[in-house]
Amino acid sequence: MPSASLRRWHEWMVRLGPIRYPGALFSKPQDTSVVHLTFDDGPCPKATPFVLDTLKKFDAKATFFLIGKNVQQHPDLVDRIRAEGHLMGGHSMHHENGWNTPTPEYVRSARQSLDLLEGAYFFRPPYGRLKKKQHQQLAAQGVQTVFWDVLSYDYDTQMRPKECLEHTRKRTRPGSVVVFHDSQKALPRLQGILPELLAHWRDKGWSFRTL
Ligand SMILES: [Zn+2]
Repeated sequence: MPSASLRRWHEWMVRLGPIRYPGALFSKPQDTSVVHLTFDDGPCPKATPFVLDTLKKFDAKATFFLIGKNVQQHPDLVDRIRAEGHLMGGHSMHHENGWNTPTPEYVRSARQSLDLLEGAYFFRPPYGRLKKKQHQQLAAQGVQTVFWDVLSYDYDTQMRPKECLEHTRKRTRPGSVVVFHDSQKALPRLQGILPELLAHWRDKGWSFRTL
């Protein structure tokens, strides 16, 4: 399992994040039979095609939070994500950690990552680490910050796919916003969990929509 301190921080975010970051999105409980799948850190030629193929099999639409430098390197994958009906949001230019980055620089990076994607205004802070001031300045520019209520831990090389699967299944509710990663690092776990999770949720009668 993920380290205890990291897990405590995640629990804290889900409980108190909505108070610390007013207006940020954590889940959409009003969506009673929908799961919101989100994929961070792409586009990635090793992982994004697998995700798109899997989503297509389940007629699932998802939201991708793309890193600006990857968008510049793989415009063909950006086109494919868009053409297949998914939504795209920004994830900064270079995966900056908000806690360690001066606010003007951070806001500029977030803005640039959004400007690469026509009309995008959803932004997910890398590592979920965001200063209150950064959140406020982004909100003032009409940017919607998106956190999550369920982490799949697919990025955690210490986790077995079965552990990721059980954790994600247990935590996900209707309206949940679930984090996955279309990255090379997460791929071994993602391949082990994504098709099974989608089948499980489909069998419960849930569908998969963009935010
Ligand atoms: Zn990320």
